[in-house]
Parts: sequence; C-alpha cells; structure tokens
Amino acid sequence: MSNPQGYAEFYRRSVEDRDAFWTEQAGLVDWHKPFDRVCNEDSPPFARWFEGGLTNLCHNAVDRHLKDRADQNALIYVSTETDIERIYSFRELHAEVQRMAAVLKGQGVKKGDRVLIYMPMIPEATFAMLACARIGAIHSVVFGGFASHSLANRIDDASPVAIVSADAGSRGGKVVEYKPLLDEAIRLSTHKPGSVVLVDRGLAPMNLVPGRDHDYAALREQHLDAQIPCEWMASTDISYTIYTSGTTGKPKGVQRDTGGYLVALAASMKHIFMGAPGETYFSTSDIGWVVGHSYIVYGPLIAGMATILYEGLPIRPDGGVWWRLVEKYKVTVMFSAPTAVRVLKKQDPAYLQQYDLSSLKALFLAGEPLDEPTARWISDGLGVPIIDNYWQTESGWPILTIANGVEKKPSKFGSPGVPMYGYRVKLLHEATGEELTGADEKGVVVIEGPTPPGFMQTVWKDDARFVNTYWKSIPGKLVYSTFDWGIRDKDGYFYILGRTDDVINVAGHRLGTREIEESISSHANVAEVAVVGVADQLKGQVAMAFVVAKDSSALGDDASKLRLEGEIMKRVDEQLGAVARPARVRFVSVLPKTRSGKLLRRAIQAVCEGRDPGDLTTMDDPAALQQIRDLLA
Ligand code: AMP
Repeated sequence: MSNPQGYAEFYRRSVEDRDAFWTEQAGLVDWHKPFDRVCNEDSPPFARWFEGGLTNLCHNAVDRHLKDRADQNALIYVSTETDIERIYSFRELHAEVQRMAAVLKGQGVKKGDRVLIYMPMIPEATFAMLACARIGAIHSVVFGGFASHSLANRIDDASPVAIVSADAGSRGGKVVEYKPLLDEAIRLSTHKPGSVVLVDRGLAPMNLVPGRDHDYAALREQHLDAQIPCEWMASTDISYTIYTSGTTGKPKGVQRDTGGYLVALAASMKHIFMGAPGETYFSTSDIGWVVGHSYIVYGPLIAGMATILYEGLPIRPDGGVWWRLVEKYKVTVMFSAPTAVRVLKKQDPAYLQQYDLSSLKALFLAGEPLDEPTARWISDGLGVPIIDNYWQTESGWPILTIANGVEKKPSKFGSPGVPMYGYRVKLLHEATGEELTGADEKGVVVIEGPTPPGFMQTVWKDDARFVNTYWKSIPGKLVYSTFDWGIRDKDGYFYILGRTDDVINVAGHRLGTREIEESISSHANVAEVAVVGVADQLKGQVAMAFVVAKDSSALGDDASKLRLEGEIMKRVDEQLGAVARPARVRFVSVLPKTRSGKLLRRAIQAVCEGRDPGDLTTMDDPAALQQIRDLLA
C-alpha cells in the first residue's frame, strides 16, 4: 500500500476513520469467517476487535505460506551454546507443529486450556507456542531459568493442564538445569498440572515422575504423520498470557486476544519493520519476553519471513557472532536491545567490518531508553538506520517509533519517535490530569481508549485489577497509564524520561533518574550508568550514580576515581543544574540487571538504603548487587 499522503494522513485515518482503516489492515491476514464489527468499545476501557471473525494465529504464521513458500526457510535455529544450527522450512515447521499439537492433545489439552511453556531457546519452544495457537490452547511462556518460587506463582495463576519444558538451558557455556527447578515449583504450587512434557537435550540427567512426566521424543515418534487442523478461534478468544517483568508479589498476566494481535503484528511487519516475505528477520530477544512472542515467533512468520531463534550470548564465541549470522542468512531486519549494543560496544569494533552486512535494512532497538552515544556507535558501525521503538509487554507492539514503511522519516537521537497508528498518545499532568499540549512539557504518557488491536485485553482472571491498575491512576480520567514520563518536542517527537515510579525528589525538585543517567552517559569514559534516589535526611532524596567505565584501566587508584567522579558531577551540573548532581558517583564493573536487560534500579536503591532488595529471581548476575553492597560497606 503506498501512502502518497504520508504518515500524518495514515495516522489520522487510523483514529478518525478507524473502522475503514483497520478493515484494510485486517486484509493482510486470512480469516476463516469475516468479522462483522471492527471495534466493540461498549464497555470501556475494554476494546474487543474484529468481533464475529474467526481465524487462527498458527494458520496465518504457518499453513498460509505452504502454497507459495513451503520450501523456504521458516525457522533458523542457531545455538552457540550447543553448536547446533538447524533450519526448518515452512513445510517442516508445519509438520513439527502438528506433531507437537498431537502430543498436547494426547495429554488432554483442549481449546481454552492453558499450557505453560518453561523452555530454553530451542525449536520445540516455538513448536509448542504455535501448537497451542493451532489447537486453541492458551500458552503462557515463563522465561526459562526463572526460580522455582516465581514459577510456582505463575503455575498457580495460569493453572495449566500441561507444562512443556526441557532438561536444561545453557548460558555462556554453563548448563542451567530446569527440571529440578520445575519439580520444586510444582511441589510449591497449589495447582498441580496433570502432565509435564520434557524435551531431553542431553544436557542434564532427568528423573521422570511416573504418570506425570513424559519424554517428548518418545511421544513425538507416535505422531510423526499427525494432521491436526487449525481450530477456528473467535477473534476475541485468548491466545496467550505473559507475565510482566519486574512485578513483585502476585504476577500480572497480560492477556492477549487472537484476531486483534494477528492484525496488529501483520500491520507492524509491513508499516514499521518493513519485512517482506522470503526475507530473514533476526530478533535477539528471548521467547520468555513479549518481544520474543511478537517478533521472534509470530510477527516474522505471519509476514512469511524466516526467523532466527538464537540461543547464546552476543559475544560468544566472539563479538562478531551476530554479524556472522546477518551475513550468512542475509538478515534484512534485526531487532535487539540497547543493553546488548552496549555490551558489543565494549568489543573490538573491527567485528563490524569483518562481515558483509549489506543485506541489513535497519536495526530496531527497544526495551529501555536508547542513549545517544550507543545509538551513534552502532549507527556508524552498521551504516543502516537505527530505529528506536517504545512499547510495553502490555501493548504487544510499538507505541512510539517511526513507521518508515509508510513514509520514510528521520529518527531523532534520544526519541523513539511519534505515536503509531491506532494509538492516541497524550501527555497528562500527573496530579491534575490536565492535558499538556505545549512543546517540551513533561507529563505522564497515557493512551486514550479504545486501545488498538494487539493491545492487552485485560489482566488474566482479573478485570478489576486491569481497570484499577492501568486506567485509574490519573484523577478524574479513564485513560491507560504507561507509568512513563515523557515530553514531546515541537515536531511531535516523544522522549521517554523514565518510569513515573522511578522518580526522585531532591529538595522539592522532581527528577527522573533517567535524565541524570542520560547526562552522565554523555561523558566519554562512561559505558553504562544507573542512577537511583536514596533517602536523605536533609534533601528527602539524593541521587546516587553507579557507573561502569569504558576504560577501567584509567581508574587504578582513588585519585583517578575521584577525578572522574568530579568530571561527571561537573557535567551534570552543566547539563541539568546542581540540583540533579549525584551525591556520589561510584564505579562498578557490572550493573544489576534482569535477564532481559532492564536495570534493577529498585534493587540498587534498596541496597543503598540498607533495605532488603526483595525478589531477585529475574536478576542476571547476583555478584553485581554484591559489588554495590561492598562499595557501601
Ligand atoms: P516491558 O513491559 O518489560 O517491555 O517494559 C516496558 C517499559 O520499558 C516501558 O514502560 C518503558 O519504561 C521501557 N521502554 C521500553 N522501550 C523503551 C524505549 N524505546 N525507550 C525508553 N523506554 C523504553
């Protein structure tokens, strides 16, 4: 679809001529029965998309392509952990998904039942997701390697009929046994799943519990010729739940529909990611996160693209491993996170020159603010557009970015871009709820309903929590809060300034920790930084900064540390004013992060304040927090 009138008109139609616009987008996918209502918004804030329509995600991701591209690559599996590289064509993927579907049916899984997937990055994880979609079961992927306690909470919340898992994952060459964690989780949970299907990778021994545990390979053998038709699902039927990252206490299951999600992904592949059938998409995320759902599994396959499923680190065996894959599989679209790029930035830049990267059209980065030095470094190295995109587990696809597939527009460093079609993004005053329309006014980023296709339907089993948590935080208004601070410049580009819940208050001045981090990271010797607000008797809170230096050899003694600390403070003074200056800048070799790369600011803050950092099951490297404890001791 060419859009001679440009993005402004495209966007306008998406909200003002909504039904016609989304009917057009719905034409990108197959419907078993057409819908008769585009959007039911009779009971706000709930939005029900494409009511009356029948479709299936697996049909659109797999079966639909058999006609034109059965022998083209669909799933390219690369594990630098086990040195396995294996390609599945659409035909082979179709067969494997049906085998998995037959196995699940054999375990008693029916339409509407939940299947919990606790898996490393192996092809069977993808087969399991697609098999669930195929038979109308609701999948709930839990990030592999989550600790038993968190897994048990999710088992209780999802009450799955079956769990699909494996003997182990592997990270940096170290085997992480899943089976003992799963056994312990099932012991802790109140709900006991009837069946556990286990993929044996030969990485760790497994004790199978008789009657409950089954070896996947043995079951698969019984269904090699399985033909399991797609279950035609109502558009509003649930496709999956995924638990939001960083939640403490009771997990929050983000619930997604079928038809709306399908259309949203198909449209985003075209208008935002510019992927074409037959090309290869490489998202470096994990199936345990929302990016993995939308842009490893469903999005690329729906678009008829091959998708790379990568198990391993970005720097093992060396910092060129991703670029080798780009060259080998002629990747056209790549999706990663700023944190991964910052890891690569510490490697030899020559890796970027060693491979033919000419197939690559763009690199998309999301999940956290993209700082300018990181964006420039990778942009210079790759010579392709770096496209920041802002979204959340809740939205399922980008809220803010640049829809270059509609109209090529420049990105601005530091800004993820403009509201995507279908999203009515506003900035509101946090206390009064008043809309802020002026340039560079800071407010809470909210979305007015009805939310577009693909957006979360509700919190699994808890409509009240959905409404109260997300839609009632701004006084007097029923709007969806992202809980992010933002500003919009005179050209309509948004800038995300950090979570509203990461805000710190220094002597009556409200500061986003992210703003201070941005300023600090502009110093030439700063690779990474985390700023937290720490309780202070005099000022309420003060900012504390933890910095990973680019060149730590320059920090050999206390004097050189003090010198760099002074330089950083001066820079913050200059850029943001003395009020934002951190009380201390401390140097560490690594920052505490979740496995998906998000800074655990709250845990750092707790340690600084001598409190218990709470649930750390999502933390990547416990030693990172210990370093901070030691520094403060
Ligand atoms: P999650 O649901 O775990 O993906 O986290 C969503 C949150 O990550 C958002 O609310 C933002 O705080 C942050 N985030 C995601 N993408 C971006 C981005 N491109 N720029 C700034 N912050 C982002």
